[in-house]
Amino acid sequence: TEELLRKSDKLAVVGQLAAGVAHEIRNPLTALRGFVQLLKSTVKEPKEYFEVMLSELDRINFIVSEFLFLAKPQVVNFERKDLVAILQSVIKLLETQAIMENIQIVTKFTDLPSIHCDENQLKQVFVNLLKNAIEAMPNGGEIDIQVKMRDKDHVQVRFIDHGCGISKERIRKLGEPFYTTKEKGTGLGLMICYKIIEAHRGQIHIDSEIGKGTIVDVLLPVSVPRR
Ligand code: ADP
Ligand code: MG
Repeated sequence: TEELLRKSDKLAVVGQLAAGVAHEIRNPLTALRGFVQLLKSTVKEPKEYFEVMLSELDRINFIVSEFLFLAKPQVVNFERKDLVAILQSVIKLLETQAIMENIQIVTKFTDLPSIHCDENQLKQVFVNLLKNAIEAMPNGGEIDIQVKMRDKDHVQVRFIDHGCGISKERIRKLGEPFYTTKEKGTGLGLMICYKIIEAHRGQIHIDSEIGKGTIVDVLLPVSVPRR
């Protein structure tokens, strides 16, 4: 519980920070992007500079969007949904990327009752987790996605990859803002996952071994108790 508390404290701080900063950054960013685009089409010399400027602007914009998601009180729309269907749509979304990376996604789904959840938010969690699994396996291989009842009130969604793994010291850092080991990473994906799963009164457990791979478990209550 202490660990969970520590993480949600951090989320609150980041949330406040993001709310203020993100809006202030968005407007000048949009204006800047427009002028760079304009210059790119009128100035003849080094075009690559403009490409770099545009892609850096896009990156800032992307990070600000992720941040805004963290800051905004999300409009939650809890409904009874079929978790397996949600997972299947996420797999479909990332299938092409997986195939290109020589990755097979192997599923093991058991029958489940419908789950009290916000479908779009859960999709976002599963996209983040599956993306991380894919990105951990640059040489391809198998990713397993398994769903089962953990006990009579909870379902467990498990993502198993056979990728680079995470060291014990680093596992503790997961979910902290901007903690990333990727050149193009934001280090916000897991944080968003924690936030969403916390709102569902669920839990995320990560177990990993360097060079062997990673298991991410998402535990979700079948019914979310009212706060
Ligand atoms: P990002 O993917 O943008 O780096 P995340 O919050 O999704 O941000 O992940 C943070 C870091 O956690 C990653 O950079 C990576 O080092 C580590 N990580 C997350 N999932 C995995 C995984 N399945 N295998 C190995 N490392 C992982
Ligand atoms: Mg990620």
